[in-house]
Amino acid sequence: MLEVLNLSVRYGRHQALSGVSTSITKGEVCVILGANGAGKSSLLKAIAGMVKVEPGSEIRMNGDRITGMKAHRIVEKGIALVPEGRGIFGELTVAENLQLGAFPGRARSGESETLTRIYTLFPRLAERKSQIARTMSGGEQQMVAIGRALMSQPDILMLDEPSLGLSPVLTKELFRSLKSIAATGVGILLVEQNARQSLKIADRGYLIEVGCITGEGSAESLMSDPAVINAYLGGG
Ligand code: ATP
Repeated sequence: MLEVLNLSVRYGRHQALSGVSTSITKGEVCVILGANGAGKSSLLKAIAGMVKVEPGSEIRMNGDRITGMKAHRIVEKGIALVPEGRGIFGELTVAENLQLGAFPGRARSGESETLTRIYTLFPRLAERKSQIARTMSGGEQQMVAIGRALMSQPDILMLDEPSLGLSPVLTKELFRSLKSIAATGVGILLVEQNARQSLKIADRGYLIEVGCITGEGSAESLMSDPAVINAYLGGG
């Protein structure tokens, strides 16, 4: 469904990504693991059309070339990003935040069904529809951010460090929700520092180091890979 081929991103003289290739299909949870500054956020931003990519990079969604498209057109193609730090509108209510997520043309027809599905997935949001978003807890705000992204009815949902600042219990709950979103056919591309928990729900994963993919495989094989254990699972 989503194919990334030979993707490179450069900020001035700093090469953030060099020749990265990845793919993700329907209903799959794919995790990207890497140290701080490895280029994980740059990968998601490049796919979402939020940073410029170098010539020779190619991004395709359902066979269509989306390289260099504006961010709002990429949302129309079915790719949604939950950015690091969530990016919700703090002064608006939960319901207003969700409504704003339905801006793409692709989302308008099924808007009320999608909203019902989101409230079923996150009952807390249904209980707090009229609460001002910034007064919600960190975990609840993360639900708002994910809910808002889902309102665009994406085929691919990308999340940048969604567990940041959440307790272990909330992280577990969050990852369980991601698994049920994937079960509805949405492909999930997840950037995470929390390797252990994210590999538990992932089907596949990639390792990224200084802008390059240095490993990939099934979540199971990554969990037993000594390099992964040493670098990301605290030496086992
Ligand atoms: P983290 O987990 O710390 O967010 P990351 O793996 O997501 O790290 P990126 O945010 O993609 O890494 O950054 C990759 C590299 O590019 C880093 O060295 C970073 O300092 C640099 N970088 C990111 N954004 C910019 C920018 N707008 N201008 C200049 N350099 C940037």
